[in-house]
Amino acid sequence: MLKQLNRADLDLLLTQISDEYRLQVPQLLADGTRQLAGYTGEAELSLTGEVLQRKPSAFFFPQTQRLLDIDTAGAVAVPQPAEKPLALFGLNQADLAGIRFLDRFFRAAPADDAYLRQRNGALLIGLTGMAGPDNCFLSLSAGDCDIELVAVKESWLALGHSSDGEKLLQNFPEGDKTQLVRMRHLNEGTAAESDLLQQASQLLIEDRVPDQFWMEIADRCILCSGCNLVCPTCSCFCVQDRNRGEITERSRVWDSCQLDAFMREASGHNPLGTDALRTRRRIHHKLAADVERWGEFGCVACGRCDRTCPTGIGMMAVAEEMVKCFGPGKP
Ligand code: SF4
Ligand code: SF4
Repeated sequence: MLKQLNRADLDLLLTQISDEYRLQVPQLLADGTRQLAGYTGEAELSLTGEVLQRKPSAFFFPQTQRLLDIDTAGAVAVPQPAEKPLALFGLNQADLAGIRFLDRFFRAAPADDAYLRQRNGALLIGLTGMAGPDNCFLSLSAGDCDIELVAVKESWLALGHSSDGEKLLQNFPEGDKTQLVRMRHLNEGTAAESDLLQQASQLLIEDRVPDQFWMEIADRCILCSGCNLVCPTCSCFCVQDRNRGEITERSRVWDSCQLDAFMREASGHNPLGTDALRTRRRIHHKLAADVERWGEFGCVACGRCDRTCPTGIGMMAVAEEMVKCFGPGKP
């Protein structure tokens, strides 16, 4: 299904979606960053610009998530799903890939019910085409999102990639297929980044990166944990209980593999007991361990960790350094 929306059509589509979903749309913050926030029909949409500041996957796997309540008699109550499912609008290719990665991780047996309470029934709307500095001309498909909007100058080509998406689009005018083909031809993709990750991954898989390298990278880490907090595919968490009189609330909270306590056991033993081991793990997990387990990188090249890391050792920076030091032509 291919439709064409002008600005009034887009507003109508968003209004329709917000009737059935808790719709989140990109908005510009006072500091110039873009963020997904609740749709009111009044706030200005920010449809082009930098990557969304906060990773969209956090709507399904938030920083703090209540798992259950336990009362003094031992009865357990699990939070119920919200009345309306979420709809996330304006996601780019990397945002969607991050959600797809977490979907597979949290849906694998034993399925994670806290994640699925937020994720099941949710609607994902991708935004590709001429959408600002992060123009994305890759084609999305059924597994990526429910609706794909391809920005073309003053309008959007709209593709329904799921039955829910097609239903929402059914009353809009037909789109021009030749225009879509033209847009797809502009596909430059992220070949350079993928190539860099591929080379770095190969070095890790072949175990050609010495410990000394990780010690030097780790020396530059100030343990702020920003790289993990912004990463759409990071899924590590710890669990904490908070006593509120008769009820104990159990929640999970994002963890960070850069922190000393990350894998420390009750005995005090820590299998990742040095900064160098933890730094190696952050990169190795996404470029080697995930490849072995899932058949693809755990890094979707969203660029957030490189933008966030105050000392310049995000994923791309480290991959580049690794390839420069140990890549083709190096002993
Ligand atoms: S963002 Fe950079 S400095 Fe902060 S924990 Fe991650 S690697 Fe270390
Ligand atoms: S670029 Fe950084 S933040 Fe983005 S997916 Fe890769 S590791 Fe995570």
